[in-house]
Amino acid sequence: MQLRYAFRLYPDAGQQTALAKAFGCARVVFNDAVRAREDARRAGQPFPTAGQLSRKLITEAKQTKERCWLGEVSAVVLQQSLRDAETAYRNFFASLKGTRKGPRLGAPRLKSRKDTRQSIRFTANARWSITDGGRLNLPKIGAVKVKWSRRLPSTPSSVTVIRDAASRFFASFVIDTDPAADATAMPDSDQSIGIDLGLTHFAVLSTREKIDSPRFLRRAEKKLKKAQRELSRKQKGSKNREKARVKVARAHAKVTDARREFHHQLSTRLIRENQAIAVEDLSVAGLARTRLAKSVHDAGWSQFVAMLEYKAKRYGRTLVKIGRFEPTSRTCHACGAVDGPKPLSVREWTCRVCGTVHDRDTNAAINIKTAAGLAVSACGAPVRPGGIPAQREETGSLGFPTGNRAA
Ligand SMILES: [Zn+2]
Repeated sequence: MQLRYAFRLYPDAGQQTALAKAFGCARVVFNDAVRAREDARRAGQPFPTAGQLSRKLITEAKQTKERCWLGEVSAVVLQQSLRDAETAYRNFFASLKGTRKGPRLGAPRLKSRKDTRQSIRFTANARWSITDGGRLNLPKIGAVKVKWSRRLPSTPSSVTVIRDAASRFFASFVIDTDPAADATAMPDSDQSIGIDLGLTHFAVLSTREKIDSPRFLRRAEKKLKKAQRELSRKQKGSKNREKARVKVARAHAKVTDARREFHHQLSTRLIRENQAIAVEDLSVAGLARTRLAKSVHDAGWSQFVAMLEYKAKRYGRTLVKIGRFEPTSRTCHACGAVDGPKPLSVREWTCRVCGTVHDRDTNAAINIKTAAGLAVSACGAPVRPGGIPAQREETGSLGFPTGNRAA
């Protein structure tokens, strides 16, 4: 399985100039490729082949006055840019034909120098390397300082160099995982668990543990809010506004990083401790129109579940997503009775049949585990109380199918 590992880069002034040049050239070649295809389409001619584009837009272009500076950057970077344009078109056509999953894609667009995120890709044959001193040596750019925040488990096959909106540089390596090493790193476990997306906590586990976002994330979020408030007070077009905008971009990047770090730590811990994990399938696309959307997006639940998913795959664990319409919030996990609707304000309730007092989120987490078939009865058979049928009437008062979150 392939994974990406990203590390912060610290290019010096000269390297930053060389990188800016490479970003610019890659962008120009990409745009020239898009234009060439558009011209062919308008003229009713067949699309130029990859070989033709490479000759015309790179080899021959370097000889012209308008594009002679293309020779100053690595040819492999330019070739990769052509391939990226090619892939963008392939995905677009597949999307048109309906053979590609996911949302409908638009036609590839021209890239702008004003795009906040710039990137170039170096494949295996691009003669890049990691030096003995731990620097990333890139052709025609030089040996760039790297902050290695964790070990690369194997030799990477390619690297993408990125400059983000906060003007920070990153190297994103693609590596192939080693199944034997992974099996040793994460021995089998006999535990399983259900996780509910908490409303007052980030997550609530069927073990009754409640997990809050860590202080380093909350602190970063507070700083971001402050920076955003300051930005909104600055006059449009002023110098101070530009400064404040950069500050917001930096604070935003810090929050994103801190959140990802938290998701990594938690997902690794849960995967290590459990052989099987059950979560709700919240399909955030459907939730996006409800007032729950903000809290779901902010909490980054889908990013967290995506991490659980790839880590489960990597370490031979089972991740079960249960349907959004299971009434996990209002089913008593002790006796299986289905109680009345539970508005979001109800944090605790008592089962009218067996009298068990439930913490809303913990009860839901236990039901999620049960619904996924992960709860095991005394005789070893999975239990699945009849009280949790998939049910569509739990749309709450919002008029949207929000699943049990609003039930
Ligand atoms: Zn009960």
